[in-house]
Formats: sequence, structure tokens, C-alpha cells
Amino acid sequence: AEDVVRNKQVILRDYVSGFPKESDMQLTTGTTKLKLPEGSTAGVLVKNLYLSCDPYMRNRMTKRDPGASYIDSFNAGSPITGYGVAKVLESANPKFKQGDLVWGRTVWEEYSTITATDSLFKIHNTDVPLSYYTGILGMPGMTAYAGFYEVCSPKKGETVYVSAASGAVGQLVGQFAKLSGCYVVGSAGTKEKVDLLKKKFGFDGAFNYKEEPDLDAALKRFFPEGIDIYFENVGGKMLDAVLPNMRVHGRIAVCGMISQYNLEQPEGVHNLMYLVIKQVRMEGFLVFDYYHLYGKFLEMVLPAIKEGKITYVEDVVEGLESAPAALIGLFAGRNVGKQVVLVSPE
Ligand code: NDP
Repeated sequence: AEDVVRNKQVILRDYVSGFPKESDMQLTTGTTKLKLPEGSTAGVLVKNLYLSCDPYMRNRMTKRDPGASYIDSFNAGSPITGYGVAKVLESANPKFKQGDLVWGRTVWEEYSTITATDSLFKIHNTDVPLSYYTGILGMPGMTAYAGFYEVCSPKKGETVYVSAASGAVGQLVGQFAKLSGCYVVGSAGTKEKVDLLKKKFGFDGAFNYKEEPDLDAALKRFFPEGIDIYFENVGGKMLDAVLPNMRVHGRIAVCGMISQYNLEQPEGVHNLMYLVIKQVRMEGFLVFDYYHLYGKFLEMVLPAIKEGKITYVEDVVEGLESAPAALIGLFAGRNVGKQVVLVSPE
């Protein structure tokens, strides 16, 4: 007899414009066969353990023309897809075997058949929390590493500013900056987050951008001599305030611009002339270009975690039921640290 099990899923009901709502998604309960389809040659059947809520997913919730983004839109009426940590139940792919733990692209449901196994990484180190492979040891960690070291080429003694600094990417950028001997200041949207930046992640300074009527003045307070490196997560008014505060030959790594993701019309940026005046290099990047460095990244970060030189804060909610609220919470700043959904204990 074939094993048929319950399979809860989170479906995108319809394409979204403006701020996403919980009701844009729907939890459904169906069933699935715990077996790969007959004749599978490369796929794996997995049980999802953790799912990751990431800001880029908002982009996929809107219908766009092919080529208008770096990633396809979701299919309305189908389950949401995203990064996660999973256990292999059956494998038709010689790279994976039953019982392996993997991280990579999966589906917002309990059990998934993954055919695009190119984007799955086998997990070898299990003496850290498995959820870390959605964050510090997964896509956001790799983003912080690529953006800070590869795009910004930091030097000891330089000044670094990180926006959305307490989040999945930002908290790590700040800690990398300290390990590199830089002076680092971060901004975030609550007092609790500002305290974390200073007390837990070792930022030299931190401020609540929502309580600063004049962002330019706030930046001048923390960077009287200017900013060498800006790690850009927010965009909009924040970017405009940063530009005149950049130092000569500064670098801006454009990781994301979350303040723009729910706007129908992006805000204008007025101070771009400072790129010329201060000879600043502003470079956008995507983590996908840097996965060849994943091994090198793990060699640095795993020991640093185990020796307590790097720490990581996660915000874990339980159950697929909680996933829609957790995802949209990113855009209201409700997450404190990396937003993770626990789907099933291992
Ligand atoms: P976070 O964990 O930082 O969560 C998002 C945070 O953004 C919220 O908690 C909130 O914090 C802040 N935020 C939300 N809305 C606004 C707003 N309107 N203005 C200012 N801040 C806001 O997310 P990640 O660390 O996962 O992602 C950070 C950035 O990195 C995003 O822009 C994302 O798109 C980008 N990214 C880019 C990648 C790439 O390959 N280039 C890969 C991964 C992420 P607060 O309370 O401080 O406002």
C-alpha cells in the first residue's frame, strides 16, 4: 500500500499590489503520496523542517513581465516557494540519499518533491541549530559575506554604516565589520533592536531611524568624518541621507531597498551627484553570483560560531499556519532577527 500523508500548503491566492496582507495567502490541507513519481531520474522527496521568510519574496508576489526582475513571479493559485531546511525521504539523485539534511529552494508545504536539485546544498555540520541554514549559514549569511567582503573590500579602521542592521543580513554584516577592525554603526526600527545591535552584536553605535526626524544629522553625529562603507538594505530616504555623508572613495554595496518593495511608484533619489563628488563606487549585487564561495564562507563562519566570535538572533514561529503573518511582518519590522518558520521538528 502506498503511504499517503497529510500535506498542508501555503498558497498565494492572487497577485499583490501595495502592502501584502495575510489574506493574500491561504493555508490548505491536502494529501500527498510519500513516494517520488514513477520514473523520476533526478528529484528528491523531502520533509520540510524549517522555512525562511525573506524580503525578496515580496517581489515574486507581483505579476511582472519576464525579464522585469531577476527572478520569476510566483504562480497565483500555487504554493509559495522559498528557501528552507529539509530532510531527504527518498532520492533519485546520486548526490543525495535518504536521511540527508539539505538546505535550498523548496516549497511552503510539509512534503515536497524537488526536481531543481542544483539549488540544494547538503548539510554536513549538524552541531549548530539546523535553522541556521535558513539564515547565518544559508542565503542571508552568504549575502552578508559577499556584499561586505567581495563588494566593499573593507580595510581596518574604516567606518561602516548598515541599515536594517538587526535583520538576517545586517546583524552579520556588523559582526564581520568588527572582525575586520572597522568602526560600525547600525540603524533599526525599535529600541529593542537598537539594544541588540550594541549589546549583542558589538556595533560601536546604533540608532532608531524612526525616532530621528533628521537622518542627515543622525549620520553626522555617528560619522563626523564620514562613511567609508554603506551596506544598503533600505533605500529611499535612507540612501538620500547617506550619500552626502560618504567619504572620498567610499563604497556602497546595494543589497536591497526594502522601503521600496511595497510602493507602486519608487521614491526618487536626489543626492546621486555625491557619487561623483566623493568618487564613490555604488554596486548592486545578488547572492546567486557568489555561491561558488560557499565553502570558503563556511570555513570562516562555522568556527567563528563555535568559538563564540559570531552570534546570531533568530525569530522562530511555529507551524505553516504562522508563515503568512511572519512573511508580511518583515515589511512592518515585526521580526527581531532572522525570520524562520518551524514546520516540523526533525
Ligand atoms: P531583515 O531580517 O532585515 O527583515 C527586514 C527588516 O527590514 C525589518 O525587520 C525592518 O526592520 C526593515 N524594514 C522593513 N520595512 C522598512 C522600511 N520601509 N524602511 C526601513 N526599514 C524597513 O531582512 P534580510 O536581512 O533578510 O534582508 C535585508 C535586505 O537585504 C533586504 O533589502 C533584502 O531584500 C536584501 N537581500 C538581498 C539579497 C541579494 O542577493 N542582494 C539577498 C538577501 C537579502 P526595522 O525594524 O529595522 O525597520
